Amino acid sequence: MSEATRVPRPIPLATKPRPRAAGRPGSGKTACIRTFGCQMNVHDSDRMRRMILDAGYAEVNAYEDADIVILNTCYVRENAVDRVRGHLGELNRLRKEGRVKKVALTGCIGAAEESETLRRQFGIDLVLGTHNTYELAEFVGLPTMEETYTPDLPGTEGEHAAFVTIMTGCNYQCSYCIVPTVRGRMVCRSKESVLSEVDRLVASGTRYVTLLGQTVDAWRHEGDRFCDLLEAVADRAPRVSFTTSHPSNMEDRTLEAIGQKDTIVKRLHLPVQSGSDRMLRVMHRGYKAERYRRKIGVFREAAPDGTLSTDIIVGHPGETEEDHEATLGLVEDCAFDSAYVFKFSPREGTEAASLGEVVPPKVAQRRFLEVLRAVEGNAFARNQRKIGGTEEVYVRHGANEDGRAIGETWSGHAVHLRTEATPGEYVRVAIESAGPHVLYAGDPLVETGSG
Ligand code: SF4
Repeated sequence: MSEATRVPRPIPLATKPRPRAAGRPGSGKTACIRTFGCQMNVHDSDRMRRMILDAGYAEVNAYEDADIVILNTCYVRENAVDRVRGHLGELNRLRKEGRVKKVALTGCIGAAEESETLRRQFGIDLVLGTHNTYELAEFVGLPTMEETYTPDLPGTEGEHAAFVTIMTGCNYQCSYCIVPTVRGRMVCRSKESVLSEVDRLVASGTRYVTLLGQTVDAWRHEGDRFCDLLEAVADRAPRVSFTTSHPSNMEDRTLEAIGQKDTIVKRLHLPVQSGSDRMLRVMHRGYKAERYRRKIGVFREAAPDGTLSTDIIVGHPGETEEDHEATLGLVEDCAFDSAYVFKFSPREGTEAASLGEVVPPKVAQRRFLEVLRAVEGNAFARNQRKIGGTEEVYVRHGANEDGRAIGETWSGHAVHLRTEATPGEYVRVAIESAGPHVLYAGDPLVETGSG
């Protein structure tokens, strides 16, 4: 071999960035967390982020810059697993090239039986479910934590907005959902524990607290119900929201409190899934469409300007044209401000995966578009009514390179605006135009500070 051929060619590795301030200075260790799925997973990632930062890792965005990669996964839909499989394949390749040292798989897929196959196939170093996230601490070199109930691990502090998990798991058995299998039955955190975390967060500068749970309004503890907790949090934090609610647990007094308490964002996310009583029964949702409509009536009266969103599944096995028409009717009656519309996809391990009467894909696609158009038509009309008004907007994301920031009104509308204000500050703006999903503001009228 000639000398020339032995000269190593530069390997196109991305330069490892210097650790961010939050990491231990000079440690040079890097970690990347990729989050899939719902708000619960976002919050779990938040906790893991604290662990990696405490262990001296700097957080990076690209896999090839990371010593450790953590995939915090969602198992709710089949294609979510396929997506994660694709990421694991890519990570395997990077590891063989020496760019990534270790890979951890956490979250709902980590809690599922399938995780063992994935571990062997992709040589994953650590697999954790949703109830032993705390074991990541040891993996990244921290002393072992003894907690077995992850919600008592601290969430993010010192940020302008934080999630506070108040319960985990779910006691329902919806036909299409894997959550009760992977997250277990409902466990509620104590009121004292939640309030002391909220106090700590507010003292460290948090201005927006979102209470989290799979069925957040099912929270109960020693005689207190969700509304008691919500009101107590709303008395402590300057801005409060919560998600996700279940229609069977939603009490009128909670809906009324949304309208009455100044610090609660006037937004309700109440998944309905179908407008057909027959389908609601097949799905084991535990309520009828009429009851759902009545709840929405209470909410609209309590917070006429508030925003209402929902989840709808089209094409669940057995769904007929009549059922679909009933859903369209409910969409018209409720005039949602937004909706997550899903085409049914079977999830292994759920009841719905083994049901017959599968809806043909073309029919499901047509129904999906019809529901989506109905939702967007209503949302567009409601948003148009906001044009010309002025709004106090909470800045959630500061301006990007184009100078556009994203904020939220007290009614829960998303607003695109131009401002120098930083996340957590309030800005008063005039709404100049509106689309089905977002309002567009002109230049700020007055910067109103941190609220
Ligand atoms: S209420 Fe139903 S859809 Fe929601 S988490 Fe529980 S089982 Fe899943």
